[in-house]
Amino acid sequence: MGKVLIIGCGGVASVAIHKCCQNSEVFEEMCIASRTKSKCDALKEKLEGTTKTKITTAQVDANNVDELIALINKEKPDVVLNLALPYQDLTIMDACLATKTHYVDTANYEPEDTAKFEYSWQWAYRERFEQAGITALLGSGFDPGVTSVFSAYALKHEFDEINYIDILDCNGGDHGYPFATNFNPEINIREVSAKGSYWEDGHWVETEPMEIKREYNFDGVGQKDMYLLHHEEIESLALNIPGIKRIRFFMTFGQSYLTHLKCLENVGMTSIEPIMYEGKEIIPLQFLKAVLPDPSSLGPRTKGKTNIGCIFRGKKDGKDKTYYLYNICDHEECYKEVGSQAVAYTTGVPAMIGAMMVMTGKWNKPGVHNMEEFDPDPFMDALNKWGLPWKENRDPVLVD
Ligand code: NDP
Repeated sequence: MGKVLIIGCGGVASVAIHKCCQNSEVFEEMCIASRTKSKCDALKEKLEGTTKTKITTAQVDANNVDELIALINKEKPDVVLNLALPYQDLTIMDACLATKTHYVDTANYEPEDTAKFEYSWQWAYRERFEQAGITALLGSGFDPGVTSVFSAYALKHEFDEINYIDILDCNGGDHGYPFATNFNPEINIREVSAKGSYWEDGHWVETEPMEIKREYNFDGVGQKDMYLLHHEEIESLALNIPGIKRIRFFMTFGQSYLTHLKCLENVGMTSIEPIMYEGKEIIPLQFLKAVLPDPSSLGPRTKGKTNIGCIFRGKKDGKDKTYYLYNICDHEECYKEVGSQAVAYTTGVPAMIGAMMVMTGKWNKPGVHNMEEFDPDPFMDALNKWGLPWKENRDPVLVD
């Protein structure tokens, strides 16, 4: 079918690359380009001989628009799949505009010097993408991503009107370290140490970090503590789900993780304000990232399951209705299949599927779009086919 250019070669990219190689009818060719080319070369070497996908590699600094344009002009991909960091979203979108190439990512833009994530920066590209006749698909991971597709599916097939959505992200996995993050530590810690917020009656309600705690008994995992966080899909779902009254996002954390995080915060290690150290400016959070375990090294040690999904409440044929859609994913099974733990797997698989939706033209609408704006059915079928089967519960326990 076509060619994908994947930018970034970390934990999530590694899974997406494995999955594209399993799907070589769609991804006939692939270029893997990242800051550290040796990681791309190592993955190419591992995969060649196991796939029909033709793989090339390249070095690129994705902060540099001219370098990106030159790479895209050389490789001529049909779709660029951005699996670098959220800081690079805008430069990569600029390069896609300049070369009229479709764009897919998994996380919304964040400026490197401010821990603030929202869609406004990327939504500002809408008209330019429309005029260029190309599609930008934002947030094709699990959350955002699959949770957004679940919402579109529930609206299409189960409800006349959805009034409440609770997104529950549970990682019941254990990697045996007292403290480590399951994806990029810098991005992860910025996310969980930020203030919480949820959408209610047309506006944001802000909370202190980890202020709202609930317990939930997750299918396949068991009882866990979970905490309300701000999360980016709330912003787009609030606009795209008519009749919505409240959207909340909860993530589970163990006590050891929270105690370590508090301590690191208290001593200033999670700060993104630069400090001088031995005559050199450093950012404490980036230094912390350097001493923490690399998330891609957690695969062989992580046991247990993730359970991520959405509980919907609304109306069907004039009656109140509840509906829970979720996926359970096993860390050890993921490691056996692609050499990564389930957090990278649950993000990398939907990233491949999003790129496939755009490449095959099933999701093709010039402009800048969030996942729930497209027909959810082909994506839901692809989840079942490519390793993230979903389950339904029509009588779930609700979160108070
Ligand atoms: P990693 O840190 O493991 O990988 C990031 C990759 O990007 C690395 O290969 C890194 O290169 C590369 N990179 C960083 N800066 C540049 C640059 N300037 N130019 C070129 N390459 C660069 O991160 P993850 O794989 O854990 O996360 C990837 C993305 O997935 C993030 O945006 C994250 O927010 C998102 N994510 C989304 C989720 C969802 O459900 N929607 C869940 C989890 C993550 P190098 O190897 O040199 O460091």
